Amino acid sequence: MTTKIRADLIDAGCTDEKLIAEIEKDWLEFNVAKPRSKQSEFECFVKDCHGNLQIVFTHISDRYGLPKHIATVVTRSFGFKSKRQTDIQNSLNLGSKYGVWRYLNAHRTPCNHSCLDGKFFYLKRGIRFKGEFIYPGDKPGCMCGYRVSVPFLEETPPSLLQKIILFFRG
Ligand SMILES: [Zn+2]
Repeated sequence: MTTKIRADLIDAGCTDEKLIAEIEKDWLEFNVAKPRSKQSEFECFVKDCHGNLQIVFTHISDRYGLPKHIATVVTRSFGFKSKRQTDIQNSLNLGSKYGVWRYLNAHRTPCNHSCLDGKFFYLKRGIRFKGEFIYPGDKPGCMCGYRVSVPFLEETPPSLLQKIILFFRG
């Protein structure tokens, strides 16, 4: 199965298989379920940049010795993945357990995740799809998202929710 980063690199005209494999290996290592102590220095660095893509861009250009246009693609891909994972980790830290998949068909070569739309998944593990656990945005062309499920809100009838909101608004 092609990874998203590989598809992005080939799209950008990168033909150096050794380089693609090296970047792909790092990309696959980014994993929200791994405790911080087991994350690589590179992964921690990118996550600590909190989406400041200029710093990530400089770091990635140097790390792999990339021309500007390829470094841009790689930065976007790592930046997106690390932001998504940081968001999920924050939700886990706040006590949320489940996400609800949201299918989005916006890429010119869309993913095949329409059947996942509205499905619940463990934030800690991702959703099982074709024999592996994935997160929104992991696969080539995937523009899917998710929302965090709040069990109390899922079970509360909308009419009661409205009353609760009005109560807190005073
Ligand atoms: Zn998708």
